[in-house]
Amino acid sequence: MTPADLSFDQRHIWHPYTSMTQPLPVYPVISAHECTLKLNDGTPLVDGMSSWWAAIHGYNHPRLNQAMKQQIDSMSHVMFGGITHPPAVDLCRKLVAITPEELECVFLADSGSVAVEVAMKMALQYWQARGEKRHRFLTLGGGYHGDTTGAMSVCCPKNSMHSLWQGYLAEQIFAPAPTCRFDDEWNEHDIVPFARLMAGNRQDIAAVILEPIVQGAGGMRFYHPQWLRQIRRMCDREGILLIADEIATGFGRTGKLFACEHAGITPDILCLGKALTGGTMTLSATLTTRHVAETISDGEAGCFMHGPTFMGNPLACAVASESLSLLENNDWQQQVARIEQQLQAGLTPLAKEPLVADVRVLGAIGVVETHYPVKMAELQRFFVEQGVWIRPFGRLIYLMPPYIISTQELDKLIAAITAAVTHPEFFSQ
Ligand code: PMP
Repeated sequence: MTPADLSFDQRHIWHPYTSMTQPLPVYPVISAHECTLKLNDGTPLVDGMSSWWAAIHGYNHPRLNQAMKQQIDSMSHVMFGGITHPPAVDLCRKLVAITPEELECVFLADSGSVAVEVAMKMALQYWQARGEKRHRFLTLGGGYHGDTTGAMSVCCPKNSMHSLWQGYLAEQIFAPAPTCRFDDEWNEHDIVPFARLMAGNRQDIAAVILEPIVQGAGGMRFYHPQWLRQIRRMCDREGILLIADEIATGFGRTGKLFACEHAGITPDILCLGKALTGGTMTLSATLTTRHVAETISDGEAGCFMHGPTFMGNPLACAVASESLSLLENNDWQQQVARIEQQLQAGLTPLAKEPLVADVRVLGAIGVVETHYPVKMAELQRFFVEQGVWIRPFGRLIYLMPPYIISTQELDKLIAAITAAVTHPEFFSQ
C-alpha cells in the first residue's frame, strides 16, 4: 500500500467507531498467516485479537482455504428463496447436532447483529401468534448485542450512548449488571432486582436476552452461572422466552463449546456468529426450538418474516462447516485449557500494578482492567512497536488469541501488556 492509499483511506473510508475529521491511525495489513499479521513494511505482528474474536484457527488455514476454493468452483452464491444447497444443509445438520437437542430449527443470516434482530423478531412473532401483545425485552446492564437498531435497543444504555437515539430506539427493560463474578460464592441478592423487574413487567416481556456468562464488548465481565440457572427457571415459570447471544462466546472461547453449558441451561433461541466461519467470512445462525418455530409458522403471517439476500451464502456455509470439523479435530478443549493456564500465570501478577484495577481470565479470554482509559493511538503504536496486535478499548486491555497460538507467541502478547501497564503515559489520568 502506498502513502496515497493511506491518505485515500483517511479521507474517504470509515473505520469502526472512528471520526471522519480526526480518524485514529490505521495500520496496513497485507497478509495474515496462522497467528501473525504482516504489515505493509514486512513487520510481523502476533495477533491477540483473533480479528474481533472470530479467527479461532488462525489465518490462512489450508483446510478453510481449500473449503472455500472448492465451493467457489461450484457456486459462491445462489438465492435461498425456493432453493437449497449442500453447504447449507451440511452446516445446519452440524449446528443442530452440536447445540442442545431442543434447538432444531436454524435461520442463517449475514452477521451477528442480524442474528440478534432475527432472534428478537422470532420472540415478537411468537407472542403475536399466541395473540398476546408482548413487545419488550428484559436484559442486563453492561450487555452488548450489536449495532443495528433492534440490537442497539438491548445494549447497555451507558456504553452504547442511548441518549443519542432517544425517541428512536425501542425502550427495553434493563436490570443492573451482575456483580457476582464467575468464581465468587453465589449471592442470592445479586439477582433480586432482575427478578423484581421480571415480575413487575411479566405481561409485556417477550423475551429475556443476554450474553451467557461473558459480557463481552460491554465490559469483558464474567458473571456467575447461577444467574443463568435462575433466569432460566424464572423464564420457565413465566412462560417468557430466553435468548442467549453466544456470538462472542460460542465455539469454545470460554472453555465450554457454548457458554450456556457452564450453567447447564438451554435457551429458547440461540444466536451464533463470529467464530462460526473460523473468522473467514461473515455468517450467523439463529437457532430455536420446534415449539417456537411452529408457533410462529401457525400465526397470522404464516411464516417467519425475514429473508436476507445473502441468506445461507454457500461459500460462507462451506467454510463454516469445515471450521466446525476443524474445531473437533484440533481438540479445542485442550487448546483453550492451555491458553487459560498461560493467561492465568502471565496476567494475574499484573493485579498488583498501581495502574491495574482488576485481572480476570476465563477460557481463552484474558482481561486486564485499568483504573484509567487507555490513550488509544499511543498504546496501539506501542503494541505495534512490540510486535503484537492488541486492540484495547476504554479501560480494558484484553487478549482473545486464536486457539492455535504457541506458548512463545502468547508469552510475547503477555509481555507487551506487562510493559504497557507500567507506563502511565498510555493512560488518561
Ligand atoms: N452480540 C455479541 C455478544 C457480540 O459480541 C457482537 C459483536 N461484537 C455482536 C452481537 C454483533 O455481531 P456483528 O458485529 O457480527 O454484527
